[in-house]
Amino acid sequence: MYIVKVLTEHPVHSLDTTFDYLSESCLNKGVRVLIPFHHRKIIGYVENVEKTSLTKEELEQEAGFTYHYILEVIDEEPLLNQELQDLANTLSQMTLSPRIACLQAMLPTQLKPSTTHAVGVKLKTIIEVLNDGTPQTIKQKECLEYLKENPQSQAKDIPYTKGVVDRLVEQGFVQYVQVEDYRNPFSKDIMENKRVELTSDQQAIVDGIMQKTGRVSLIHGVTGSGKTEIYLALAGYILEQGKTVMMLVPEISLTPMMVEVFKRRFKEAVAILHSRLSQGEKYDEYRRIKRQEVKIVVGARSAVFAPLENIGLIILDEEHDASYKQESKPRYLTSQIAKMRASSHHASVVLGSATPSLESYSRAMKGIYDLYTLDKRINQKPLPKVEIVDMLEEMHHRNYSLFSRTMKERIQMTLDRQEQVILLLNKRGYASYVQCRDCGEVIKCPHCDVSLTYHKDEHRLKCHYCEYQIPYPQVCPHCGSKHLKTVGFGTQKIEEEIERMFHGARVIRYDVDTTRQKNGHLKLLEKFKNKEGNILLGTQMIAKGLDFEDVTFVGVLNADLSLNIPDFRASERTFQLLCQVAGRSGRGQKQGTVLIQTYNPEHYAITSAAHHDYQSFYKQEMLYRQKAKYPPYCHMVSLIIQSRQEGLVHQAAIEIKGYLDKHIQQAVLLGPAKSGIFKMQDIYRERILIKFIHSQEVYQALETINEFYNKKQKGKVTVVCDFNPYSQI
Ligand code: ADP
Ligand code: ZN
Ligand code: ZN
Repeated sequence: MYIVKVLTEHPVHSLDTTFDYLSESCLNKGVRVLIPFHHRKIIGYVENVEKTSLTKEELEQEAGFTYHYILEVIDEEPLLNQELQDLANTLSQMTLSPRIACLQAMLPTQLKPSTTHAVGVKLKTIIEVLNDGTPQTIKQKECLEYLKENPQSQAKDIPYTKGVVDRLVEQGFVQYVQVEDYRNPFSKDIMENKRVELTSDQQAIVDGIMQKTGRVSLIHGVTGSGKTEIYLALAGYILEQGKTVMMLVPEISLTPMMVEVFKRRFKEAVAILHSRLSQGEKYDEYRRIKRQEVKIVVGARSAVFAPLENIGLIILDEEHDASYKQESKPRYLTSQIAKMRASSHHASVVLGSATPSLESYSRAMKGIYDLYTLDKRINQKPLPKVEIVDMLEEMHHRNYSLFSRTMKERIQMTLDRQEQVILLLNKRGYASYVQCRDCGEVIKCPHCDVSLTYHKDEHRLKCHYCEYQIPYPQVCPHCGSKHLKTVGFGTQKIEEEIERMFHGARVIRYDVDTTRQKNGHLKLLEKFKNKEGNILLGTQMIAKGLDFEDVTFVGVLNADLSLNIPDFRASERTFQLLCQVAGRSGRGQKQGTVLIQTYNPEHYAITSAAHHDYQSFYKQEMLYRQKAKYPPYCHMVSLIIQSRQEGLVHQAAIEIKGYLDKHIQQAVLLGPAKSGIFKMQDIYRERILIKFIHSQEVYQALETINEFYNKKQKGKVTVVCDFNPYSQI
């Protein structure tokens, strides 16, 4: 008899809990098992196994409670190898989140212990040749010849009918065999892409990185400077060494293009992991990696946990991108995980960006990272000329529209030249909100502290933070007045306006709403590429990675939206967004231009972006960070205290702050304050911000709070520690 400790998620407080179960046979640590738990069946991980000579009755007598048997053993081998199991432990300590949450974050959905329904293996029928000889008919003979030449053919693919094969089976020449099949997430034909010769600048970077195994390198290369070719060349060299490569890209939007480039170069050696794959596809790609059938994984954030063995290189493209931060438990930074994995494999890490995060660039300045710079586009193609329009000035000229006079002119000129336009408007939906003209009431989400956004095509109001939506109301829910108005604008409204304003404008709207369905984004981009539209209008999703030859004008309708968010990174985000979107202009033969509309024409984030001047931005932003004590000059952790009961949150926050004040001496504590959006999805949140240099006492204090507070409150109030917070919402 064996006593098995099983780690599982506690249903009330979100802490790790282990429970003892019995098993007749010995089990491997780390495998998943099905266990009975309070009249339910749940999945847990085997944490420890101990042999005992006692019987069930004897054990129960000793313990004073009833033991249950494990119902089912799900895996024979643990899903995560030792490296990844250790990583889960470190991640749990680093982010102060339960180990179970870390294990879950590392596995594709179907393999997570919380799910009880598993996606199965897909089977295919192949035909195996058993014996040679002379079958009865000519047709059968031909078929047998064919099968000998094409061993392991799939039954459905051969140019002979089932009847013919069935006769061959009867005569003992061949047999049907069921084998596992993989779902292929990449359905496009794979064409070889033309190999380019690296420029001497590119080659020097590749050589530099290859010579220093185990380092972290930052490639600061302007948009269009050929970073992707560098990644491909590096991957090629690493594969030659018999090692594997992880190529990470920001969430969703950028993935398809990078996937395509890698698939073309490295074919079946590539697996893809990102959130747009179907459950079955993800499961199969995961198994291909686990069985070491692939050498390269291209994927978004969670692909950093892919079970690759013998990793030689981990690349993070667009390393500054906010989607590299996981915003639910465990709240990790992908670059941190990448560095940890690289160090267990003695692998190198490459971070690439046109606008590196301040954290990374300052590390490069200190020599912690190796810095490589590409400040020219390939073939000396000039960077686009950027102009700024002061929207206040426009108002003085009585132009209150969202389009300045210059903007109108430039768009029309570009269309007249039969070239293409990209317009950035960082706000989806039709109008920002709906307001009553009589009482002033703004219609809000009942579950979140935000106004509902009007979506015209469905004539509904939607919350952008939860799933809540309602039909457009007939009357004001507050006073019953029929006089409702829509205020503000979003991509949907601008789409209408543009088609009215410009001759020959055909708009393709590219935002979360139009790209929701599978491959929806690819289809729209394809349309734009085929000139089915001449204006691509979108949210920040259009800023990244897109490469269209005929785009010669990029317009930013409101650069201030991102500047005004309550986040110490607002300037950095704005600078990055503007540089990225500007980089979409003039990538082909023709010179490109960019126009930025703003109410802050003097702001350094905007002027530096207009001059493509990273250095100038970096210097000014670092001064601000130093003065205001923000990263990279210190570390930060945001404690989120949350509850469904409004009354409990503040009291708890005050209590926790008191505790921290007592136990932390060498840090700056701010708050508690309500979150940017106090109520979200019916949960009320307050935050305490801690800025610190030395982490030890902070971690100690937070650990205690985490344990005791979460247990004591029995789930009524929970505390989440968000290290390196990216959002104050
Ligand atoms: P980045 O990733 O830095 O934005 P890309 O890798 O997309 O830049 O390169 C920009 C363009 O230059 C692409 O169209 C790419 O095919 C081309 N390119 C890259 N390297 C070379 C090279 N060595 N010779 C010719 N063309 C190149
Ligand atoms: Zn009203
Ligand atoms: Zn909501």
